[in-house]
Parts: sequence; C-alpha cells; structure tokens
Amino acid sequence: MTQFQFQQIGVVHSCYKQKFGIPRQPGLVKQASASIELLPPFNRLDTLDGLEGFSHIWVHFIFHQCINDNWKAKIRPPRLGGKKKMGIFATRATHRPNPLGLSVVELLSIRQEDGRVFIDIAGADLLDQTPVVDIKPYLPYADAITDAQGGFAPERTELKPVFFSELALSQLNDYKETYQRDLKPLIEQVIGQDPRPSHMTQQQGRTHANTLWNADVKWVAENGQFHVLYIDYPFGD
Ligand code: SAM
Repeated sequence: MTQFQFQQIGVVHSCYKQKFGIPRQPGLVKQASASIELLPPFNRLDTLDGLEGFSHIWVHFIFHQCINDNWKAKIRPPRLGGKKKMGIFATRATHRPNPLGLSVVELLSIRQEDGRVFIDIAGADLLDQTPVVDIKPYLPYADAITDAQGGFAPERTELKPVFFSELALSQLNDYKETYQRDLKPLIEQVIGQDPRPSHMTQQQGRTHANTLWNADVKWVAENGQFHVLYIDYPFGD
C-alpha cells in the first residue's frame, strides 16, 4: 500500500471549541467566523498572491480529533436520523480511512500581524486548532454545478427557533459589552441546526452545552423548540 505524508501548512482558529454543535457542513452557520493561520515556512503573504480576488476557498484539513478512531464501511448519517446505514464514501463522516476533510468557506480578508499571516473566513465547520494541509480557490465556473443531484441529502435542514431566557439575554448584553462580540445570532444558528445526535432527539428537558469562543451556552430542547437557559463566561480561557 502506498503511503503519503503531508505537511501542515496552517492551523484553524475558530469559535468552535468542541465537536458538539459544529454544523455538519460549511456555509450553514454564516455567523461562524474563523481564521486560518499559515505556519512556517508557509507564513508568507506571497503564497496567497492573487487569492484576494476569490470570494471562497477550499480548505483541505485533517480531522485531528478522529485520527485514532476506527473507520467502518457503513455508517449512519445524522441526516437520516440514524435509522439507515450508508457507505462511508457516500458520506462526509469524520471517521474515514484517511482523516481528510474538505470544506468550502467564504474568504473575508487576508492580513499580516506581527509577522503572522491570517486568512479570515466565514461559514466554517471547523474545530478550533484543526490542522490545514492545503488551500485552493473556489472556481465558480467549474465548481458550482447548478443541476447536481443531492442523493440522500438533497437540501439543507430547516433552522429551528431558539428562545432566550431573561438571564441569557442580559448575559449576552454583558458579553457584548465586554468582548465586543454579538453571540446571539451565532447561538441561534448553531443551536437552531439541532446539533443533537439522532439518539438524543427524542429526549426532553436534558441540558446541553455548547462552547462558542469563551462562552459555554446551556440550553434545553422541549417540544421541538430550543431554549437557552444561561451562559457561562469567560469559559475555558
Ligand atoms: N465539510 C467537511 C467535509 O465534508 O469533509 C466536514 C464535514 S464533517 C461531517 C463536519 C463535522 O466534522 C463537524 O460537525 C465537526 O463535528 C467535525 N469536525 C470539524 N473539525 C474537526 C476536526 N478537526 N477533528 C474532528 N472532527 C472535526
């Protein structure tokens, strides 16, 4: 068997500090801001010359939190409610023979700070500290296939409403003043996707937690609605 070795060219800095709650595909949570920091010897602006003209990029990355996990030929995609198995290569599951991920994200800006080079991106489905192995421009004329078939995942799932307690709303205001970051739309998009694994979707009243940046958001699901109870912050700094 031929083996290949890759060099890590960058690292992701992202609002997602844990796997739970990360959208299952890119572009679903537009509020998710992140950056890719280029690592030496690739931390040079000339490696990105010309990229600024593209609105989106492909990011090839390593599912670094799944590297030692075993893969199976068939898995249960969350999209099918965990009820049906599909071939691993018919899915984008993270437990793969090679832990390689591929996401298309919006390119916001390219910047250099204290000799460090960053690509700011939006809509990522990437865990904080994800290793990046390649970046390529998204080419609309070749990559956007308007009449493509979506197999067992033909369209995006609907966003569910998210409600906030008085306490959570006042904490969000305080958080915004302290960190100049509006977490509310991010929380609405992350929790509104229903991040729960299929086997939990029938459970009522269980408290879930999502860490976004340095805030741990506590919420419950009841009768198809999501309620944010309170937010712990600063969390995990
Ligand atoms: N768009 C990519 C692809 O198709 O290769 C990723 C799809 S995968 C289903 C998305 C999930 O990967 C996220 O919901 C998150 O739980 C997980 N994930 C993201 N970054 C990861 C990382 N560095 N290590 C392990 N899992 C990760």
